[in-house]
Amino acid sequence: MSLRRFYVPPEMVQHPQPEISGSDAVHICRVLRLSAGDAVELFDGLGNGYRARIVSASPKRVQFHIQGTFPLMSESSVHITLAQGILKDRKMDDLIRQLTELGIDRWMPFYAARSIPVPGKKGMGTRLDRWEKIAIEAVKQCRRGRVPCIAPADDFDAMLETSAESDLKIIFWEGAPQAFDIPQSASPKPKTITVAVGPEGGFDPGEVQRAHEHGFLTTGLGPRILRAQTATLAACTLVQYRFGDMGLRD
Ligand code: SAH
Repeated sequence: MSLRRFYVPPEMVQHPQPEISGSDAVHICRVLRLSAGDAVELFDGLGNGYRARIVSASPKRVQFHIQGTFPLMSESSVHITLAQGILKDRKMDDLIRQLTELGIDRWMPFYAARSIPVPGKKGMGTRLDRWEKIAIEAVKQCRRGRVPCIAPADDFDAMLETSAESDLKIIFWEGAPQAFDIPQSASPKPKTITVAVGPEGGFDPGEVQRAHEHGFLTTGLGPRILRAQTATLAACTLVQYRFGDMGLRD
Protein backbone atom coordinates (compact mmCIF):
# COMPACT_ATOMS: atom_id res chain seq x y z
CA MET A 1 0.00 0.00 0.00
CA SER A 2 1.25 3.46 -0.78
CA LEU A 3 2.31 5.66 2.11
CA ARG A 4 0.01 8.25 3.62
CA ARG A 5 0.64 11.69 2.25
CA PHE A 6 0.26 15.00 4.09
CA TYR A 7 0.45 18.64 3.09
CA VAL A 8 3.13 20.82 4.62
CA PRO A 9 3.32 24.45 3.42
CA PRO A 10 6.49 25.24 1.41
CA GLU A 11 7.95 27.53 4.09
CA MET A 12 7.53 24.77 6.71
CA VAL A 13 9.29 22.15 4.57
CA GLN A 14 12.51 24.22 4.83
CA HIS A 15 12.37 23.98 8.61
CA PRO A 16 14.89 21.53 10.18
CA GLN A 17 12.04 19.62 11.76
CA PRO A 18 8.82 20.38 9.90
CA GLU A 19 5.61 19.93 11.83
CA ILE A 20 1.89 20.04 11.29
CA SER A 21 -0.97 20.82 13.64
CA GLY A 22 -4.75 21.08 13.35
CA SER A 23 -7.00 18.41 11.92
CA ASP A 24 -4.21 16.52 10.12
CA ALA A 25 -2.34 16.02 13.41
CA VAL A 26 -5.51 14.72 15.07
CA HIS A 27 -6.10 12.44 12.08
CA ILE A 28 -2.55 11.07 12.19
CA CYS A 29 -2.75 10.25 15.90
CA ARG A 30 -6.35 9.29 16.54
CA VAL A 31 -7.51 7.80 13.27
CA LEU A 32 -4.41 6.48 11.52
CA ARG A 33 -2.63 5.81 14.84
CA LEU A 34 0.74 6.61 13.37
CA SER A 35 3.57 7.26 15.79
CA ALA A 36 7.31 7.99 16.04
CA GLY A 37 9.31 6.04 13.47
CA ASP A 38 6.47 5.56 10.98
CA ALA A 39 7.19 6.47 7.35
CA VAL A 40 4.97 8.98 5.54
CA GLU A 41 5.12 11.22 2.49
CA LEU A 42 4.81 14.97 2.59
CA PHE A 43 4.07 17.35 -0.27
CA ASP A 44 4.41 21.12 -0.51
CA GLY A 45 1.79 21.82 -3.21
CA LEU A 46 4.50 23.13 -5.56
CA GLY A 47 5.25 19.78 -7.17
CA ASN A 48 7.71 18.39 -4.59
CA GLY A 49 7.26 15.22 -2.59
CA TYR A 50 9.28 14.29 0.52
CA ARG A 51 9.98 10.94 2.14
CA ALA A 52 9.78 11.47 5.87
CA ARG A 53 9.51 9.74 9.23
CA ILE A 54 7.49 10.84 12.19
CA VAL A 55 9.71 12.07 15.03
CA SER A 56 6.96 12.71 17.54
CA ALA A 57 3.20 12.62 17.32
CA SER A 58 0.47 14.12 19.46
CA PRO A 59 -2.98 15.29 18.37
CA LYS A 60 -1.72 18.87 18.76
CA ARG A 61 1.49 18.54 16.79
CA VAL A 62 3.26 16.00 14.63
CA GLN A 63 6.94 16.49 13.84
CA PHE A 64 8.80 14.96 10.91
CA HIS A 65 12.30 14.26 9.80
CA ILE A 66 12.71 14.59 6.03
CA GLN A 67 14.86 11.87 4.51
CA GLY A 68 14.67 12.64 0.83
CA THR A 69 12.79 14.39 -1.88
CA PHE A 70 11.15 13.21 -5.09
CA PRO A 71 9.28 14.94 -7.89
CA LEU A 72 5.54 14.38 -8.13
CA MET A 73 4.94 13.41 -11.72
CA SER A 74 1.19 13.63 -12.08
CA GLU A 75 0.92 17.20 -13.36
CA SER A 76 -0.67 17.81 -16.72
CA SER A 77 1.54 18.99 -19.57
CA VAL A 78 -0.97 21.72 -20.27
CA HIS A 79 -1.91 24.48 -17.85
CA ILE A 80 -5.65 24.89 -17.82
CA THR A 81 -7.26 27.96 -16.30
CA LEU A 82 -10.88 27.21 -15.59
CA ALA A 83 -12.89 30.43 -15.71
CA GLN A 84 -16.22 29.68 -14.09
CA GLY A 85 -19.31 31.90 -14.03
CA ILE A 86 -20.11 32.08 -10.32
CA LEU A 87 -22.59 29.44 -9.14
CA LYS A 88 -24.11 28.87 -5.73
CA ASP A 89 -21.55 28.18 -3.01
CA ARG A 90 -22.05 24.44 -2.70
CA LYS A 91 -21.63 23.89 -6.43
CA MET A 92 -18.49 26.00 -6.45
CA ASP A 93 -17.11 23.91 -3.57
CA ASP A 94 -17.84 20.69 -5.48
CA LEU A 95 -16.29 22.08 -8.63
CA ILE A 96 -13.02 23.15 -7.06
CA ARG A 97 -12.57 19.62 -5.71
CA GLN A 98 -13.51 17.91 -8.98
CA LEU A 99 -11.46 20.24 -11.15
CA THR A 100 -8.43 19.80 -8.92
CA GLU A 101 -8.75 16.07 -9.54
CA LEU A 102 -9.02 16.72 -13.27
CA GLY A 103 -5.73 18.60 -13.06
CA ILE A 104 -6.51 22.28 -13.60
CA ASP A 105 -3.73 24.76 -12.94
CA ARG A 106 -5.82 27.77 -12.04
CA TRP A 107 -9.37 28.49 -10.88
CA MET A 108 -10.75 31.83 -11.92
CA PRO A 109 -14.38 32.51 -10.94
CA PHE A 110 -16.15 35.46 -12.50
CA TYR A 111 -19.43 37.29 -12.07
CA ALA A 112 -21.42 36.85 -15.27
CA ALA A 113 -24.39 39.02 -16.23
CA ARG A 114 -26.67 36.10 -15.35
CA SER A 115 -24.87 34.85 -12.22
CA ILE A 116 -27.47 34.45 -9.51
CA PRO A 117 -25.25 35.05 -6.51
CA VAL A 118 -24.46 38.75 -6.91
CA PRO A 119 -21.02 40.15 -6.16
CA GLY A 120 -20.52 39.73 -2.45
CA LYS A 121 -16.92 40.86 -2.18
CA LYS A 122 -17.30 40.68 1.60
CA GLY A 123 -17.55 36.91 1.79
CA MET A 124 -14.80 36.36 -0.76
CA GLY A 125 -11.99 35.98 1.80
CA THR A 126 -13.82 33.17 3.56
CA ARG A 127 -14.59 31.50 0.24
CA LEU A 128 -10.96 31.69 -0.87
CA ASP A 129 -9.82 30.05 2.37
CA ARG A 130 -12.39 27.31 1.96
CA TRP A 131 -11.52 26.69 -1.71
CA GLU A 132 -7.84 26.52 -0.80
CA LYS A 133 -8.57 23.88 1.86
CA ILE A 134 -10.77 21.86 -0.50
CA ALA A 135 -8.10 22.02 -3.21
CA ILE A 136 -5.37 20.83 -0.83
CA GLU A 137 -7.55 17.90 0.29
CA ALA A 138 -8.24 16.98 -3.34
CA VAL A 139 -4.53 17.16 -4.23
CA LYS A 140 -3.78 14.83 -1.33
CA GLN A 141 -6.48 12.38 -2.31
CA CYS A 142 -5.69 12.22 -6.03
CA ARG A 143 -1.94 12.30 -5.41
CA ARG A 144 -1.13 15.15 -7.70
CA GLY A 145 1.75 17.48 -6.96
CA ARG A 146 0.46 21.00 -7.28
CA VAL A 147 -2.34 22.89 -5.61
CA PRO A 148 -4.15 24.93 -8.25
CA CYS A 149 -3.79 28.66 -7.99
CA ILE A 150 -7.10 30.13 -6.82
CA ALA A 151 -8.05 33.64 -7.90
CA PRO A 152 -10.68 35.80 -6.16
CA ALA A 153 -13.84 36.30 -8.23
CA ASP A 154 -13.72 39.19 -10.64
CA ASP A 155 -16.07 40.49 -13.31
CA PHE A 156 -16.39 38.98 -16.77
CA ASP A 157 -14.37 41.66 -18.58
CA ALA A 158 -11.51 41.41 -16.06
CA MET A 159 -11.48 37.65 -16.72
CA LEU A 160 -11.17 38.35 -20.46
CA GLU A 161 -8.23 40.70 -19.83
CA THR A 162 -6.46 38.22 -17.55
CA SER A 163 -6.81 35.53 -20.21
CA ALA A 164 -4.94 37.57 -22.82
CA GLU A 165 -1.70 35.64 -22.23
CA SER A 166 -3.20 32.16 -22.80
CA ASP A 167 -2.10 30.30 -25.93
CA LEU A 168 -5.65 29.10 -26.48
CA LYS A 169 -8.94 30.48 -25.16
CA ILE A 170 -12.18 28.58 -25.41
CA ILE A 171 -15.68 29.63 -24.40
CA PHE A 172 -18.31 26.90 -24.15
CA TRP A 173 -21.65 28.09 -25.40
CA GLU A 174 -24.79 26.14 -26.18
CA GLY A 175 -25.50 28.50 -29.10
CA ALA A 176 -22.34 27.31 -30.89
CA PRO A 177 -22.33 24.53 -33.48
CA GLN A 178 -22.90 21.46 -31.34
CA ALA A 179 -19.70 19.43 -31.59
CA PHE A 180 -16.62 20.12 -29.52
CA ASP A 181 -14.42 21.35 -32.32
CA ILE A 182 -11.17 23.28 -31.96
CA PRO A 183 -9.26 23.42 -35.23
CA GLN A 184 -5.68 22.19 -35.05
CA SER A 185 -4.56 25.45 -36.62
CA ALA A 186 -5.92 27.49 -33.69
CA SER A 187 -2.87 26.61 -31.62
CA PRO A 188 -1.04 23.38 -32.50
CA LYS A 189 0.54 22.72 -29.09
CA PRO A 190 -0.89 25.12 -26.54
CA LYS A 191 0.86 25.25 -23.16
CA THR A 192 -1.75 27.43 -21.50
CA ILE A 193 -5.47 27.24 -22.13
CA THR A 194 -8.31 29.27 -20.67
CA VAL A 195 -11.65 27.47 -20.59
CA ALA A 196 -14.74 29.61 -19.85
CA VAL A 197 -18.07 28.14 -18.78
CA GLY A 198 -21.15 30.16 -17.90
CA PRO A 199 -23.37 30.22 -14.80
CA GLU A 200 -26.73 28.39 -14.45
CA GLY A 201 -28.45 31.09 -16.50
CA GLY A 202 -25.87 30.86 -19.28
CA PHE A 203 -23.86 33.59 -20.98
CA ASP A 204 -25.69 36.52 -22.44
CA PRO A 205 -24.98 37.10 -26.14
CA GLY A 206 -23.02 40.27 -25.40
CA GLU A 207 -20.59 38.27 -23.26
CA VAL A 208 -20.06 35.68 -25.98
CA GLN A 209 -19.43 38.52 -28.45
CA ARG A 210 -16.87 40.22 -26.17
CA ALA A 211 -15.10 36.92 -25.54
CA HIS A 212 -14.90 36.46 -29.30
CA GLU A 213 -13.36 39.91 -29.68
CA HIS A 214 -10.76 38.89 -27.10
CA GLY A 215 -9.70 35.90 -29.16
CA PHE A 216 -11.86 33.20 -27.56
CA LEU A 217 -13.02 30.37 -29.79
CA THR A 218 -16.63 29.33 -29.27
CA THR A 219 -17.52 25.67 -29.16
CA GLY A 220 -20.27 23.29 -28.06
CA LEU A 221 -20.66 20.22 -25.87
CA GLY A 222 -23.15 18.26 -27.93
CA PRO A 223 -26.85 18.75 -28.56
CA ARG A 224 -28.02 18.71 -24.92
CA ILE A 225 -28.09 21.67 -22.56
CA LEU A 226 -25.94 20.61 -19.65
CA ARG A 227 -26.18 22.00 -16.17
CA ALA A 228 -23.36 24.37 -15.44
CA GLN A 229 -21.51 21.94 -13.17
CA THR A 230 -21.84 19.09 -15.68
CA ALA A 231 -20.75 21.37 -18.51
CA THR A 232 -17.62 22.45 -16.64
CA LEU A 233 -16.56 18.88 -15.90
CA ALA A 234 -17.23 17.78 -19.48
CA ALA A 235 -15.37 20.80 -20.88
CA CYS A 236 -12.35 20.27 -18.68
CA THR A 237 -12.22 16.55 -19.46
CA LEU A 238 -12.39 17.16 -23.21
CA VAL A 239 -9.64 19.76 -23.06
CA GLN A 240 -7.40 17.48 -20.96
CA TYR A 241 -8.06 14.67 -23.41
CA ARG A 242 -7.37 16.72 -26.50
CA PHE A 243 -4.44 18.87 -25.28
CA GLY A 244 -3.33 17.52 -21.90
CA ASP A 245 -2.61 14.15 -20.32
CA MET A 246 -5.87 12.21 -20.57
CA GLY A 247 -5.30 11.14 -24.16
CA LEU A 248 -2.43 9.42 -25.90
CA ARG A 249 0.58 11.65 -26.40
CA ASP A 250 2.01 11.99 -29.89
N1 SAH B 1 -28.66 29.24 -20.98
C1 SAH B 1 -28.96 27.90 -20.69
C2 SAH B 1 -28.22 27.17 -19.62
C3 SAH B 1 -26.78 27.41 -19.50
S1 SAH B 1 -25.94 26.00 -19.00
C4 SAH B 1 -30.40 27.76 -20.40
O1 SAH B 1 -30.79 27.98 -19.24
O2 SAH B 1 -31.07 27.39 -21.32
C5 SAH B 1 -24.54 26.69 -18.19
C6 SAH B 1 -23.29 26.76 -19.00
O3 SAH B 1 -22.88 25.47 -19.39
C7 SAH B 1 -23.39 27.55 -20.29
O4 SAH B 1 -23.18 28.92 -20.08
C8 SAH B 1 -22.29 26.95 -21.13
O5 SAH B 1 -21.04 27.53 -20.81
C9 SAH B 1 -22.29 25.49 -20.67
N2 SAH B 1 -23.07 24.59 -21.53
C10 SAH B 1 -24.13 23.83 -21.20
N3 SAH B 1 -24.54 23.07 -22.22
C11 SAH B 1 -23.72 23.33 -23.25
C12 SAH B 1 -23.60 22.85 -24.60
N4 SAH B 1 -24.45 21.97 -25.09
N5 SAH B 1 -22.61 23.35 -25.35
C13 SAH B 1 -21.73 24.26 -24.87
N6 SAH B 1 -21.79 24.76 -23.61
C14 SAH B 1 -22.76 24.30 -22.81
